[in-house]
Amino acid sequence: MQFRVIAKDKTTAARTGEIVTARGRIRTPVFMPVATRGAVRALTVRDVDELAFDIILSNTYHLYLRPGVEVLKQAGGLHNFMKFSGPILTDSGGFQVFSLSEFCRVLDDGVEFRSHVDGSLHRFTPESVLDIQRVIGSDIMMVLDQCTDYPVDEKQAREAVERTVRWARDSFRHWQENFDTEAQALFAIVQGSVYGGLRRECCDRLRELPFPGYAVGGLSVGEPKELYREIAGLTLSRLPDDRPRYMMGVGSPMEILHAIRCGTDMFDSVMPTRIARNGTLFTSGGRVNIKSSAVESDSGPLDPGCGCYVCRSFTKSYLRHLYRAGEISALIYNTYHNLYFMNTFMNEIRESIAGGRFAEAYNKWDAVYGNGDI
Ligand SMILES: [Zn+2]
Repeated sequence: MQFRVIAKDKTTAARTGEIVTARGRIRTPVFMPVATRGAVRALTVRDVDELAFDIILSNTYHLYLRPGVEVLKQAGGLHNFMKFSGPILTDSGGFQVFSLSEFCRVLDDGVEFRSHVDGSLHRFTPESVLDIQRVIGSDIMMVLDQCTDYPVDEKQAREAVERTVRWARDSFRHWQENFDTEAQALFAIVQGSVYGGLRRECCDRLRELPFPGYAVGGLSVGEPKELYREIAGLTLSRLPDDRPRYMMGVGSPMEILHAIRCGTDMFDSVMPTRIARNGTLFTSGGRVNIKSSAVESDSGPLDPGCGCYVCRSFTKSYLRHLYRAGEISALIYNTYHNLYFMNTFMNEIRESIAGGRFAEAYNKWDAVYGNGDI
């Protein structure tokens, strides 16, 4: 994997660049749609191909539990299993172990947990999650880290940072000794909760090892927006300029723009697809609630500024009808449109940075989405 910065904004840390992998080029900043279990929920892989994202994201914890390593091995990896040929990034599963499993015990050399599917007992170590990601065939792998809830006291946050750094070192060594490091890149993850000093220390200690990229984890987990922005900003500014910076789990248009302004290159979030399934759609004029009676007889397209198949074909009235009737196609069309919106939005932001117009683009979207929660 190679990364290069192509253009920088003059007044902020925003930049545009490219990550080159064996499976294709990723233009940054990039939004990665989430295919947690090897599928973007409500879409076929034909839809995903048509949407033309440069990279998608999947999840080690979920794939390890179902369908399991043996099935993936037999299929020749996730790309072949799901028939997606572009780059795939996989999260290590650390976040899911801490947030989803019925029981989880943190050990010095890893974590023991019970599956949320059938209660069976499992153990992840820094090395084993990489071995699973090898079978998955991830183009970009993530290290095992210890996530903390919000709020958490500073002592516990420090312990999580200590473990995260130690595990990152173990991961780095295992990766260097046993992997084709060009074909499967490895990113470190910064923890430290909302404690600025811990975040800085975690960045500095992780930077001692030349990881191909660095992610910011453990944010956007319920902390107040202002605090999130402050901690995100100081963490991002501490990460190396010549490596991609990835803000995990952030996906609303304004939070993406804010993080881009602080120098972020990569994003993922289930938010655009989750709200789509609940009937909330992003448009160039703001959010639209497709369930609303206000659109019952609206014969216009969802977003006149959107070139997607859904907006070119259907009226708001029809989309509302499908949703209210509980048709499966409502979930498909809504998801398709929101992901198309995200891709178009990121294209526009990249072009604005390259063309020296990032501030204009920021202000334009701030006027549309700046007042809402999402
Ligand atoms: Zn559309």
